[in-house]
Amino acid sequence: MKKIVVTGGAGFLGANLCRKLLQEQADAEVICIDNFFTGRTCNIEDLRQDSRFSVLRHDIVDAFTSKELAQLKGVREIYNLACPASPPHYQADPVHTTMTSVLGIYHMLELARIEGARILQASTSEVYGEPEVHPQVESYRGNVNCDGIRACYDEGKRCAESLMFDYHRTYGVETKIIRIFNTYGPGMDPKDGRVVSNFILECLKGKPITIYGDGSQTRSLCYVDDLLEGMVRMMASESGFTGPVNLGNPEEQTIKAIAERIRRLTESKSEIIYQPLPEDDPTQRRPDITLAVEKLGWRPNISADEGLKHTIAYFQAFQS
Ligand code: NAD
Ligand code: UDP
Repeated sequence: MKKIVVTGGAGFLGANLCRKLLQEQADAEVICIDNFFTGRTCNIEDLRQDSRFSVLRHDIVDAFTSKELAQLKGVREIYNLACPASPPHYQADPVHTTMTSVLGIYHMLELARIEGARILQASTSEVYGEPEVHPQVESYRGNVNCDGIRACYDEGKRCAESLMFDYHRTYGVETKIIRIFNTYGPGMDPKDGRVVSNFILECLKGKPITIYGDGSQTRSLCYVDDLLEGMVRMMASESGFTGPVNLGNPEEQTIKAIAERIRRLTESKSEIIYQPLPEDDPTQRRPDITLAVEKLGWRPNISADEGLKHTIAYFQAFQS
């Protein structure tokens, strides 16, 4: 059996990743490590039926106990996804968010070093901050406000990338970094607070759609299945290929266009209202995915309408 660890495995992306690994890799034994801060037991309920799946309730800010290390012995692959991703959640306890990225990746890298495992870090487009280069290429070094309310997330992720490279150079650990651009889909928490879940729920409930700012800021939305395929390909990529690699859908849309699209797809009559733009909210986001196409043979192939229809169906079922 191939032992695979997924930290943050009870969260939106993590639970979908655990399911994909169990479905596609018959020899996989998957251990989900999670502190259940934003993770939910309902996300992994179906997986618990599978004897190849297990859960270790643990905060990756803390070092592993010797009992836990024994449980993790022989691990071959580590996907490090643990970290709240929605601004209201990561800003709720910003100190813990930074520690999750910095101490968390340190503990996971130590595990990878001791066990000789591959490790993949779920980094983010937020390392580019308020970008002056558009679309964003991996070589762009970013424009992050290190004193702002998003810094706990952005700078934590930047430091995690730097630790990944230092473990690679110093100890030869096989490290892989992906920079994920806004991803959505079934499995999102209705209370998540990100744009897609908020807009869908507002439309389904007939409540006003709340746009922060004037809605001219852009995001590029990637459907979860597309993203996870890129993630798994990155883990399997040639030895020594560290990335970072952008993973996202280059179809850029304004937030206002996303609101109108979701209103059309839900056949809602909700009006659009405007609220103040949060501090440091990036003006634009679009990945340059040339590297992912070249190195991983990956590009997203689920359209915004198709992905949103699946996500709307998920929230409809969730509501009833
Ligand atoms: P999520 O909030 O749904 O999941 C995060 C998971 O990590 C949850 O299960 C949570 O309980 C767990 N967690 C948080 N802190 C932890 C800690 N200290 N110890 C153990 N577990 C902890 O978020 P998501 O959308 O599934 O994102 C997963 C990863 O992908 C995150 O690292 C996030 O930064 C990254 N990412 C996501 C997106 C996106 O659009 N979804 C974009 C960029 C990067
Ligand atoms: N946003 C919005 N209404 C909401 C939630 C988010 O207008 O109910 C905006 C938010 O200000 C940002 C964009 O949508 O400009 C994406 O926000 P999200 O929190 O999903 O992701 P991030 O800002 O981290 O890219």
